[in-house]
Amino acid sequence: MTTPNTRVVLARRPDGEATPDCFEVRTELPGELAPDQVRVAVEYVSVDAGTRTMLRGEGFHQQVGIGDTILAGGVGRITQSRAEGWPVGQAVRGGLGVQTLADVSTRQLEKIDADGLPLSVYLGALGASTGVTAWIGVREVARPGPGDTFVVSAAAGAVGSMAGQLAKQDGARVIGIAGGPRKSAYLLTELGFDGAIDYKHEDVGARLRELAPDGVNVFFDNVGGDILDAVLDNLAMRARVVICGAISQYDHMDRVTGPAMYLRLAERQSKMEGFAFFHFPELIGPATEDLTRQLKAGTLVLNEEILEGIERFPEALQFMFRGGNLGKLLVKTSAVAPPS
Ligand code: NAP
Repeated sequence: MTTPNTRVVLARRPDGEATPDCFEVRTELPGELAPDQVRVAVEYVSVDAGTRTMLRGEGFHQQVGIGDTILAGGVGRITQSRAEGWPVGQAVRGGLGVQTLADVSTRQLEKIDADGLPLSVYLGALGASTGVTAWIGVREVARPGPGDTFVVSAAAGAVGSMAGQLAKQDGARVIGIAGGPRKSAYLLTELGFDGAIDYKHEDVGARLRELAPDGVNVFFDNVGGDILDAVLDNLAMRARVVICGAISQYDHMDRVTGPAMYLRLAERQSKMEGFAFFHFPELIGPATEDLTRQLKAGTLVLNEEILEGIERFPEALQFMFRGGNLGKLLVKTSAVAPPS
């Protein structure tokens, strides 16, 4: 008996928040595999802030059409193969989409040698849009060092929590900005950050003046908007502002609010620079190697939050945009994979 595929598709383009009614769940029998294709039973789907920017119909990222499967990275195992060298049972990672079964060309896939690590880690701490992004952003773009005060926003999220830990390893004093007391406590007690600011209950500018009286040397920004302005207003001389993302703007990308405080860059002889991890393809290998080594040694951690059931992806995305997740957010399918 053929197993059906359950997938989440875009039903209508969100206007503002991407609420669950923008999506539809469809269950259909899969077609025939084409030559060079494999069928992957998806086990985990990555929930990423950037997904929201793919639902608009135009933009920097690849876009999802109405009725199309939501684009997302995933990991799983091959259940059927028409590609030589890609056996049934092989663990793979790639753009599998928000679905339980993905029929994909092997050109879109990467084999995973799980090597004792759980598959979910290949989307989180070792994922291109998570651990690797944080590594490239910190080690190549921001380059914090001893004597620097390093501030990171969305600090308890996937990219932010890894970026802060890497900056700390590099000798910086690390202050995380995140929403709510649970997240502040996590940054201080679990991740060993030197300071935490709860932007939902505290005045970010005032707290920065307390925690970083000599100014912020490096800001790794995941949020944009008011938080970016508050940090710009507190820059040290010759500071670096790294734009990794701007989640506060993703629900209204046609009306992005730019930084009102950008003249501080001139006044403090500072720089602002953006990046995307895929601008540095040559660093993905070294980043993955270092992150793998550190995960095994326990010198880096990334909390995972997992919602079970592919149909919960819309709920997961909303959960993230409302600040629910601590660390990496994933959806686990209930697909049954063959033994490896
Ligand atoms: P995440 O940080 O795990 O989750 C997003 C977090 O953002 C939420 O938990 C929430 O935490 C915070 N947030 C949501 N709406 C907010 C708002 N309006 N104002 C302030 N904070 C808000 O997500 P992620 O996937 O790791 O992405 C983090 C950032 O990295 C995003 O900006 C994303 O676009 C960027 N990114 C960049 C690259 C690149 O190559 N440059 C690659 C991947 C991701 P709070 O509770 O703290 O509000």
